[in-house]
Amino acid sequence: MPRSSAKIRLYVTDALAPMQQVVVGRDASHYLLGVMRQSIGDRVELFNGRDGAWIAELTGTSKRAAELTCQNLVQAQTEPPDLWLLFAPIKKARTDFIAEKVCEMGCRRVLPVFTQHTNSERVRVDRLQAHAVEAAEQCGLVSVPEIAEPASLETVLSTWPEDRKLMFCDESGAGAEASSALAAAGPGPWAILIGPEGGFSEDEANRLRALEASVPVSLGPRILRADTAAVAALAVWQSVLGDWS
Ligand code: SAH
Repeated sequence: MPRSSAKIRLYVTDALAPMQQVVVGRDASHYLLGVMRQSIGDRVELFNGRDGAWIAELTGTSKRAAELTCQNLVQAQTEPPDLWLLFAPIKKARTDFIAEKVCEMGCRRVLPVFTQHTNSERVRVDRLQAHAVEAAEQCGLVSVPEIAEPASLETVLSTWPEDRKLMFCDESGAGAEASSALAAAGPGPWAILIGPEGGFSEDEANRLRALEASVPVSLGPRILRADTAAVAALAVWQSVLGDWS
């Protein structure tokens, strides 16, 4: 019996449209056929970050691939607010956590930035992207933030877009209370900046305070770990300026 409602969701890169056939490769077909025990006629949900979410029927299987045929649109494409998250890479598991949570919390773009006290030199963009995709699959989302190639904070700030405000999460306590500072700065394109476990250097903090676009904020009296700070900052931003309200 075909399922009446699809619980399995897969992110694909192909276009999705009525009767569009999508062939997925070995990993996805192993997941569908081997792990989830799907067979011809079963239905899953597909999304690609552009065309909304579609119910698709499994119409062909082989050892290394599975073919799905789109039937109907079940969720229109929507985008999260125009928010970026800049963070200094930390230990692998915590960086993975950030990629996952950023997707769940709603953000368009994630930029790993190297700061003076960044203690992790390697960032696997493909791995972070995969964590973001997995979160979107599980949470019924239709959009996945783009994970950008890492760059130095200096480079990113030197070409900072004039119209994009920067919620600078300043652990020194010098920043304003976050929600009132965001409300005062108002809506528009925004980015959140979270520093590394070692914090920002004095030079960086001064540079950030001087930046025209910068809104230095405090996230309360306790020092948070970077991954916690990322989720807390996203929550405050979403509730004051984002789509929570
Ligand atoms: N080692 C530093 C803390 C770094 S915490 C120290 O002891 O001072 C990592 C990042 O999380 C910080 O750079 C900042 O961006 C953010 N963060 C953590 N706690 C914060 C707070 N209370 N207010 C604002 N930002 C905070």
